[in-house]
Amino acid sequence: MTLPYTISRWSLADLFPGYDSPELEATFTELDAKVAEFESKRPELSPQITEAALMELIARLETIDLLVSRLYAFAVLSFNADTQDQSAQTLVARVDQFVAEIQNRVLFFSLWWKDLDDENANRLMASSGDYRYWLEEMRHFKPHTLTEPEEKIINIKNVTGSNALGNLYDSITNRYVFKVPVDGEVKELTRGELMVYARHHDPELRAAAYQELYRVYGDEGPILGQIYQTLVRDWRNEQVDLRHFGSPISVRNLANDIPDPVVDTLLDVAERNAGLFQRFFNLKARWLGVPRLRRYDIYAPVAQSDKRYEYQQAADLVLDSFKEFHPRLATLAQRVFDENHLDSEVRKGKRGGAFCYSIAPRVTPYVLLNYQGRAEDVATMAHELGHAIHSMLAESHSLFTFHASLPLAETASTFGEMMLIDRLLAQEDDESVRRDMLFRQMDDAYATIMRQTFFALFERQAHEMTAQNASVDELSAAYMDNLKRQFGEVVEVGDEFRWEWVSIPHIYQTPFYVYAYAFGQLLVLSLYQQYRAEGETFKPRYLGILSAGGSEAPAWVLSQAGIDIRSPEFWQGGFNVLAALLDQLEALQRS
Ligand SMILES: [Zn+2]
Repeated sequence: MTLPYTISRWSLADLFPGYDSPELEATFTELDAKVAEFESKRPELSPQITEAALMELIARLETIDLLVSRLYAFAVLSFNADTQDQSAQTLVARVDQFVAEIQNRVLFFSLWWKDLDDENANRLMASSGDYRYWLEEMRHFKPHTLTEPEEKIINIKNVTGSNALGNLYDSITNRYVFKVPVDGEVKELTRGELMVYARHHDPELRAAAYQELYRVYGDEGPILGQIYQTLVRDWRNEQVDLRHFGSPISVRNLANDIPDPVVDTLLDVAERNAGLFQRFFNLKARWLGVPRLRRYDIYAPVAQSDKRYEYQQAADLVLDSFKEFHPRLATLAQRVFDENHLDSEVRKGKRGGAFCYSIAPRVTPYVLLNYQGRAEDVATMAHELGHAIHSMLAESHSLFTFHASLPLAETASTFGEMMLIDRLLAQEDDESVRRDMLFRQMDDAYATIMRQTFFALFERQAHEMTAQNASVDELSAAYMDNLKRQFGEVVEVGDEFRWEWVSIPHIYQTPFYVYAYAFGQLLVLSLYQQYRAEGETFKPRYLGILSAGGSEAPAWVLSQAGIDIRSPEFWQGGFNVLAALLDQLEALQRS
């Protein structure tokens, strides 16, 4: 049992006392001075620099970045707590500008490091302790780095080029208003509000929501498509032509430090398992009592459970399920509650959804929730606290090596959610609530694994087609083929889905980001399977993966836990867990 916890608003006082605090102003001044000092050390950077001198420079850089992280976090968290607060908006803009300038001023260090000869780099890395992997990773980009003036030009031109286009895409799409008739009255909704109806029990409302979504996006489809193609061309011009990456996706793979063939294997295995989800959609059609599922029905609820959990009950459930795995996990999660770093309240102006923000080692992460008492809100609490635990377990590392790299970033969060669901399922004797939870797990697996895989497959194709001067309509036709491969004959897909791709911000903002979702989820499914099979002996291996943070390559961290991400069998293992879950669902009787 835990202390009484109530729904609350977080306190950012551990970062800064407030917008007008002298501490905040002093940090800007201090940063400026520290960066100037760092710049003055530039002449020390020679191939013959001693190990000790380099370590001292890196420590200086880390101090600068620690201050930047704190400043940035305060601005961003204040803004998320109240997006209408003009002081927060102004501070975010000020910090953004300030940080961009600092980055350009210290850029010479990473450029020098990447340019250094292998012999001296190896000599220096050998005695760089916890910084080693960070140093090594930077050098991965050595063959793709241009000269300092060229890099600076790209940075400057990106502000008004690709970044501006990305922002323009956001500005255009964020002002969209969607209109759906609900109970005889036409409601005007944001996209977030509209998509709640994708999970509504009324089939007509589900269809109306999707039709309206793609009517609005489709109306501006040609322009949004043009923005996409321009970003894709910019990506190829810079990454493939100027920086000599082998392919557009290789850039992301190198940033994730995942070898190209591993990503190909992951995508191939996932595509081969499309049939598994088609089986699930057939099952869902039977539960919904329809001959064939429509695309609108993918997330339809099969059982309506309106079970609610009090906040205290949720906190107990989550902390107890962590504790059952290992007491340390619960103790760490409790730190977030006890230090008042958790904003759980629903209020006007606050950002929707949920996130965990890890600022620096040994600073307890901040967690934002919008707690409304549904089972999924409890799962979200477990998810975000899982993220917090992950970074706290890795807090012995430096600022540069404590953040888990992207492919491992969802490990503790998803695992935490699974621990919670197991506990809920064990405690729940209401059959409809259990069924709802199991179906929801498959729904989520579809959304994170199969859907994201096919986005990544589409991106790969779209980047090639754009290089061959394909039109926006041709991309839409390719997207419809992609959906056909995903759903086969099992799901009926309306023609308006040809515009779905122009509605996916990730493929605009962070090309090829999406496969990391599938990577992370399949990884956790496999890990969880090992945990069920082995029990106690699995735990140290799992804690080892989390404690490594971002201090080693993902493939190495996982190999220490006995996992070979190069093998197709490993990825298939994740799908086998889902197949077993599906067997369980197929065996359920309709009551
Ligand atoms: Zn997450």
